[in-house]
Amino acid sequence: MVNAYLVRENDGLTLIDTMLGGSADKIIAASEVTGEPIVRIVLTHAHGDHIGSLDALKKRLPDAEVIISTRDARLLAKDMSLDPAEPQDKLRGSYPGAQAKPDRTVDADDRIGSLEVIAAPGHTPGHVAFLDVRDRTIYCGDVYSTLGGVATSAKVNPVMPLALFTWHRPTELASARALRALEPARLAPGHGKVIESPLEAMDQAIASAT
Ligand SMILES: [Zn+2]
Repeated sequence: MVNAYLVRENDGLTLIDTMLGGSADKIIAASEVTGEPIVRIVLTHAHGDHIGSLDALKKRLPDAEVIISTRDARLLAKDMSLDPAEPQDKLRGSYPGAQAKPDRTVDADDRIGSLEVIAAPGHTPGHVAFLDVRDRTIYCGDVYSTLGGVATSAKVNPVMPLALFTWHRPTELASARALRALEPARLAPGHGKVIESPLEAMDQAIASAT
């Protein structure tokens, strides 16, 4: 139901998202299989099912660098305020916050090792995706899910109704289009299996949300 990813870099592993609380042992065990340490923890957004094990992981991996977008860093700190220029829609979904403070905040076009930071707001105000420039895998967080078919979180999919937790659906749909325009070779979502050659499925998901 909920994914985290370990991405190999020259200096160790980048963990993308931390799943629900109680997942730290499982994530560390998976990293140990690779023989490489987790050197950084990057977050697509501040929802509870993506940051749930952050504090437990940071206790076990005190040297790992914690990275989140500048905008969702506020939500990680439980600051629920909206900027005047943002849509004044209600923030939806769980924002439990974390004690761990980001070591670094990032914005669109920043690089984290091989990962390019892609602005993908809508599900949350500061949601980001990560494009691995080596193989064009896009780690899309909750912009798309693939549970019960590829879908955006701009429209409710009965199997995985992520859109119920989406802050602003028009912005989310624009982000879904922006990720499609990058022509990823592989779609690695926060929920559901990884999809190879996903462009046609992404087009259909956009069409059905329009
Ligand atoms: Zn989410």
